[in-house]
Amino acid sequence: MTHTGACFCGQVRYTIAAEPVGVRMCWCRDCQRLASGSATVNALFPPQAITYEGEITTFEKVADSGNVVERGFCPNCGSQIFSRPKVADTPTRIRVGTLDDPSAFPPTAIIWTDSAPSWAVLDPALPHHPKAP
Ligand SMILES: [Zn+2]
Ligand SMILES: [Zn+2]
Repeated sequence: MTHTGACFCGQVRYTIAAEPVGVRMCWCRDCQRLASGSATVNALFPPQAITYEGEITTFEKVADSGNVVERGFCPNCGSQIFSRPKVADTPTRIRVGTLDDPSAFPPTAIIWTDSAPSWAVLDPALPHHPKAP
């Protein structure tokens, strides 16, 4: 089964020919800034399973984990499409909000809970990781 998604303006589309190896909510400070205050929700896939169409701009920054993380976004509308630590054999994190069916992959863990704001609602049914898992 394939999964599809797009940015806010539709300039970027992607197709994924795999099931996720994990789905996480991330409350790191970088994600809070990118997500306008909330956690990001990310489904992890092998990079080679994802085909992109359209123009994607990437931005690299050292994350709280200490790894250089590449983030891909639409240069037209700014939607965050993916992130990927620049570490060998690391899955690509697709932003679940850009999927055509965002209900497809519910989160299975919450990470970086130590940096979540005091008002964050963290599902007690999910595993919590204070930092990276
Ligand atoms: Zn766009
Ligand atoms: Zn994060």
